[in-house]
Amino acid sequence: DVPVPGKVSNRFDLEKETELRFEVEAGEAAEQVELELLTGMAEVFGSELNRNKKYTFGPGSKIAVFTWQGCSVNLYGKPEVAYVSKDTPMLLYLNTHAALEQMRKQAERDNERGPRVMVVGPTDVGKSTVCRLLLSYAVRVGRRPTLVELDVGQSGVSVPGTVSALCIERPADVEEGFSVQAPLVYHFGSTTPGTNIKLYNKLTSRLAEVFSQRCEVNRKASVGGCIINTCGWVKGSGYQALVHCASAFEVDVVLVLDHERLYNELKRDLPHFVRVVLLPKSGGVVERSKECRRDTRDEKIREYFYGFRGVSFYPFSFEVRFSDVRIYKIGAPSIPDSCLPLGMSQDDTQLKLVPVTPGRDLTYHVLSVSSAEDGEEGARKDIVESPVCGFIVVTYVDTQAQVDCRHPPLSLLVFLPFLSLSLMPGF
Ligand code: ADP
Repeated sequence: DVPVPGKVSNRFDLEKETELRFEVEAGEAAEQVELELLTGMAEVFGSELNRNKKYTFGPGSKIAVFTWQGCSVNLYGKPEVAYVSKDTPMLLYLNTHAALEQMRKQAERDNERGPRVMVVGPTDVGKSTVCRLLLSYAVRVGRRPTLVELDVGQSGVSVPGTVSALCIERPADVEEGFSVQAPLVYHFGSTTPGTNIKLYNKLTSRLAEVFSQRCEVNRKASVGGCIINTCGWVKGSGYQALVHCASAFEVDVVLVLDHERLYNELKRDLPHFVRVVLLPKSGGVVERSKECRRDTRDEKIREYFYGFRGVSFYPFSFEVRFSDVRIYKIGAPSIPDSCLPLGMSQDDTQLKLVPVTPGRDLTYHVLSVSSAEDGEEGARKDIVESPVCGFIVVTYVDTQAQVDCRHPPLSLLVFLPFLSLSLMPGF
């Protein structure tokens, strides 16, 4: 093997059913680590590695290279940690995939719909990783499953603060994850569901509705079923949101990662025909600090505007007039029940569209561009439940120009990367 100039290389020989876990140091100055499969076969979270190809992992990556048959790999660079583990739950995860595949086969035979699976558990138990694994395995056997991303804090599909659905047509890229060319994205506007649980539940129901509509017209999507990734908030309203999601999507299977109490509660509260399965978490899943989560979120937004790895976007800024845009916020502040107008409930206030007057405080906010038709009061209601077609950043608000009536003011400065605007042809 040809050594990479200037980089330390480290060879690992893995026995069958073991995995090499490594972490790349976080921080901008950190050095990337390269991975190369030398002999045998191996996969990273369900995606197979090509032999003699160098895969690059950037700062903060936490990776497991698993092999069913045995393999040797080389790591180039200095990972923060790198060790081989024989103790992995991969066999259980593979069995789960096999059981789901049986359900898909049966659905195909009986002209029914395929399994709808919800993955739940506290934070940092590997929920997103299990979703990725099950989706990649499904697509590798020719299925077309859908990923439903309900984790508003750490979305794998779009920017933080959104919920989304993505049709999976090929296994996740080893370095970049799933291709996110045409996701269906809804604006939630916060990184925890608790900020507006009514809206969160409403959007979950909306996604379920759209997914079911798609299943009616697309047999492959129907048989492929869906894998739903959820938030790590599993108590109180967070738990209720999981129960709501199970009912909205009419899930058939719930995979509970590493949380026995949650498993028992869901078994108790969900209808008996829902199969609730308790699975262990992988010892390799690394706990992430608050800062680490925040960095990941920032990175996700940066990626949206500037691109990722090989693909560069060139966002540009332009000015728009206050009068040419309408800016809304979803949810009015709650007021005591006794002060509400007759016939109105708190629910209505949480889903209410509140017009926002642009001011300096809007600077550096990320706004979603709604796909809803502009119109009168009736049409405006749709905004809450309409997908978004992209995001902008407000970089400057000129309140002075706004008041000058002789020259129509050009006041909002925005960043709009047209390259990443997509109109969800998949749905
Ligand atoms: P959750 O969705 O429950 O918050 P994730 O699936 O995002 O958890 O996993 C947390 C981190 O752990 C991710 O960076 C992921 O790459 C890493 N990870 C998951 N499984 C393994 C493993 N077996 N070995 C090493 N790292 C892993």
